[in-house]
Amino acid sequence: MKSILLIHTGGTISMQVQADTGAVVPAENNPLILEGEKLKQFANIIEIEAFNLPSPHITPKEMFKLKQIIEQYMREQTIDGVVITHGTDTLEETAYFLDLTLNTSIPVVITGAMRSSNEIGSDGLYNLVSAIKVACSEEAQDKGVLVVLNDEIHTAENVTKTHASNVSTFQSPQYGPIGFISKSIVHFHHTPLHRTVLPIEEISQRVALFKVYAGMEPDLLAASIQLGYSGIVLEGLGQGNVPPSLTPIIDEILKKEIPIVIVSRCFNGIAQDVYGYLGGGKGLKDLGVMFANGLNGQKARLALLVALHNTNPRDAMSKIFSV
Ligand code: ASP
Repeated sequence: MKSILLIHTGGTISMQVQADTGAVVPAENNPLILEGEKLKQFANIIEIEAFNLPSPHITPKEMFKLKQIIEQYMREQTIDGVVITHGTDTLEETAYFLDLTLNTSIPVVITGAMRSSNEIGSDGLYNLVSAIKVACSEEAQDKGVLVVLNDEIHTAENVTKTHASNVSTFQSPQYGPIGFISKSIVHFHHTPLHRTVLPIEEISQRVALFKVYAGMEPDLLAASIQLGYSGIVLEGLGQGNVPPSLTPIIDEILKKEIPIVIVSRCFNGIAQDVYGYLGGGKGLKDLGVMFANGLNGQKARLALLVALHNTNPRDAMSKIFSV
């Protein structure tokens, strides 16, 4: 039987609805921990509770702590796979951070739930069992961090939360899932082509993320520099364009050696240096703006954050972004 490290971090999967108020709140005792007996049939489970946080409370510091916990267990024990339970709001960010920074070939699978433990149709225990099955699968090796919910297997790089409340919220726009789970099998039908892993020893810097909009003025970008941010990600328009009002401040920021990455605010597609008008992607690239190769804004922000902590940030950035 495989040994799976099961790490709880909180989220709806560990919450309950209060009968009197109807509010969904963290449970005093994590309801998942009471399910140990049911999980035993699938794997030898080593279970720890790293945090009990709603995922909007998770920051890159908790993501980094999770990486350290996983590495510590991998050093000290024989672990065949890792399963993490997590709130769904920022699940994709933790998944991508670990994907980018954990150097391991064993399966690391993150799951969560859209309905808390005592709600009708609760999907928590079901998703947890699915995640354990995937973590035990030989085929899940070497695929980077995987996200498993609602019978689907997604890569951390492509998955995103697409619906505020539906249980099929996790989707990989353009690419789709790379596998599925049925009653009796875990089936992979695709495999990711490449993966970049970067080392990180601490989290001390800050990267800001802005959604670009029609008529956006330059003052917010200027303020982020005065506030000491070390890098900026822009969710640009269409294929990676900004209003002309932003180009002087972008130029000024880049001249201060503060990197700027652009992604598309569109749900599908990849930002590129296509347009030659003022504010268009071509001019931005000439100024030194980098393009994020299809990452969404929140993941590009983490990628830039990790790269900035590298001993050679420019080299690290060139491995993730188009420069
Ligand atoms: N707000 C919750 C969280 O992310 C949502 C969930 O877990 O589904 O913690």
